[in-house]
Amino acid sequence: MRFDRLRLSGFKSFVDPTELVIAEGLTGVVGPNGCGKSNLLEALRWVMGENRPTAMRGGGMEDVIFAGAATRPARNFAEVSLVLDNSERLAPAGFNDSDQLEVVRRITRDVGSAYKANAKDVRARDIQMLFADASTGAHSPALVRQGQISELINARPQARRRILEEAAGISGLYQRRHEAELK
Ligand code: ATP
Ligand code: MG
Repeated sequence: MRFDRLRLSGFKSFVDPTELVIAEGLTGVVGPNGCGKSNLLEALRWVMGENRPTAMRGGGMEDVIFAGAATRPARNFAEVSLVLDNSERLAPAGFNDSDQLEVVRRITRDVGSAYKANAKDVRARDIQMLFADASTGAHSPALVRQGQISELINARPQARRRILEEAAGISGLYQRRHEAELK
């Protein structure tokens, strides 16, 4: 499955609806410091189910909502939509009924997050598993945060192992085994 486009609204500095077309051959996003380059990558990770505020450079999950600026009031919700090309029908069962798969995550103040896949309500776990199985999840080694390389070098062996497991595409299985053991 290929990422086609990313739509943001009220997410961090992207207060107005913004669309990033992830065309084939896109190799970089450039812009001055603070213009929102890292926020784009965070939006991608967030819509795939990231639930650690620290990975989003915030203290709490609601910190991803536009917090207001001198001339603009804060927003009450943030929404990110990721459109995937599913024309080769590689999406897992339950997500594989059309050529396009649109995953939407919305967070509302004091309410929390809700997810949709092709306009149907789904659980956070369904989305996390969908991307973990496709080896592109929120913890994917393909998404490297600023400063993450030095973190990796200093990481304990267990943390490093989790990264290898995601790269090998087995972290979805690992999570299911963990849940089975709890039952
Ligand atoms: P650099 O080149 O320094 O890495 P960058 O392009 O990666 O910069 P980002 O870190 O993506 O920039 O964007 C930072 C900007 O996003 C800051 O101006 C910050 O104030 C703004 N920002 C972050 N969270 C929010 C929020 N919740 N509401 C409003 N603005 C926010
Ligand atoms: Mg940055």
